[in-house]
Amino acid sequence: MRRLCVILLGCYLAATFSVAAPRIETQQQIWEFMEKYGYITRDDMVNGMPKDEETKTKSIIYFQKMGNMTMTGVLDEDSMNLMNTPRCGMKDMESFADMMRRKRYALGPRWDRTDLTWNIIRDSQDLPRAQVESIMERAFTAWSDVSSLTFRKVSSSEPDIKILFAAGEHGDGFDGRFDGPSGVLAHAYFPSLNPIGGDAHFDEDETYTDGTFSGTNLFQVAAHEFGHSLGLRHSDVEDALMYPYYRGYQPNFQLHSDDINGIQAHYGEGNGKPEERDTPSTPLDNCMPRVTLSTQTADGSAYFANETHVFRRTGNTIPAGYPMRIVDEFPGLPSNLDAALFYSPYTYFFKGSEYWRFRDRQMAGTYPRPMSDWGGLPNDVDAAFVWSRNGRIYFTKGDQYYAYYPGYGVSSYYPQPLSHWRGLPSDGVDAAFQYSNGYTYFFKGSNYYRFNDGTVQVDTGYPLNTAVQWLGCNPNELVGPTSETEGDATAIIPSLFVILLSTLIGICTF
Ligand SMILES: [Zn+2]
Ligand SMILES: [Zn+2]
Repeated sequence: MRRLCVILLGCYLAATFSVAAPRIETQQQIWEFMEKYGYITRDDMVNGMPKDEETKTKSIIYFQKMGNMTMTGVLDEDSMNLMNTPRCGMKDMESFADMMRRKRYALGPRWDRTDLTWNIIRDSQDLPRAQVESIMERAFTAWSDVSSLTFRKVSSSEPDIKILFAAGEHGDGFDGRFDGPSGVLAHAYFPSLNPIGGDAHFDEDETYTDGTFSGTNLFQVAAHEFGHSLGLRHSDVEDALMYPYYRGYQPNFQLHSDDINGIQAHYGEGNGKPEERDTPSTPLDNCMPRVTLSTQTADGSAYFANETHVFRRTGNTIPAGYPMRIVDEFPGLPSNLDAALFYSPYTYFFKGSEYWRFRDRQMAGTYPRPMSDWGGLPNDVDAAFVWSRNGRIYFTKGDQYYAYYPGYGVSSYYPQPLSHWRGLPSDGVDAAFQYSNGYTYFFKGSNYYRFNDGTVQVDTGYPLNTAVQWLGCNPNELVGPTSETEGDATAIIPSLFVILLSTLIGICTF
């Protein structure tokens, strides 16, 4: 009896000391939420409220897009219920431009190695230590099963991934404090050189459980947080683990193909047993609004890639099966490439301080090799192309460009300002190439430019929309502004201009 009293007293104290996260209802609470998760920036607010109606509607639309809801731009009952669903404390959105580029999954920074260590630094009071360790182990295995990653529990106090349970303010600043039961369940840090990088924190005010519908399922929350520890951001796919909101205990939990595609884009498939993966199929993906690389291969195909996927265009058609993962089309290539160059008969790919050489879809030699092979070029180039006017090789990086002479390298005359190429965006381009029609094209954001070799400037009538003109994207499927510089909510409805344009010009005309 005395023992029961102590337990009851303990429960009573625990209940008194942790005040539940308040229900979000007032305008002030709503806009604190919107700012915390990245749907509005402080610059766009006055006295804690959106500075104007347009900003307000835009923020709500992105909140609804991320939550997989009808994008009405008005906070209805469903929106308010979602806002009050327990969730992860990490941001959903970095910027409006980020949301426009958003694939289903989204990538943050990654570890530069695949063998990672972990340890529990501060215990949970809900479950015995051994049980928590076995849950964490299972949560890591969910990721290592489908990637090249391996995880090892160590007893060190400085493992790669430090796990701790804590309530309220727990050492990572005011914005990182936990909010009592419900609300924020946990948060984690992306990989970084900072010691906190990769760490996962769980709100001790939640009641964490294992294998039951009551309480909060620790395994699911841990697997989600480890996704962040490994460099994944939130996904707007409702059934994906990386969806920001807690969806209740799922007895037969499995990673979604979206989670698997995300982790494999960072670390490759490894020796695990990846599920059947599917190519991106959401309209936004098929349209690939932004390309980071454009090039040709010896067989006459044109290629356009973003961070993870590649489109191929032969003549005026996109063959079936595209977009495809970069590594499936060009075995041996990593994702997140910087640039590519077709210099007949080879296609070169560049990333950071390394490059690869391909002949059509086969690696031609032993690669990667160091960028120092290209005497005088910097690392991290943005674009590379052979200019149709003189047949020379050019590279761009930021607002500068370099001419490269085979067998000689780059002369000390370079870099020169990119503004010499009149009409191009002054802060640089994302990609460039010479197409089989002899024209040189430049890509930036969601647009592209055709260069006129006669007048040595961008042709009139440009820029045009890349996805619509090159990738056969139906403008109706282009969600969101067609240019990054736009951003008003009305542009969520496909711009009439783009529809008109594509009808008039069609996919074959450049
Ligand atoms: Zn999260
Ligand atoms: Zn924390």
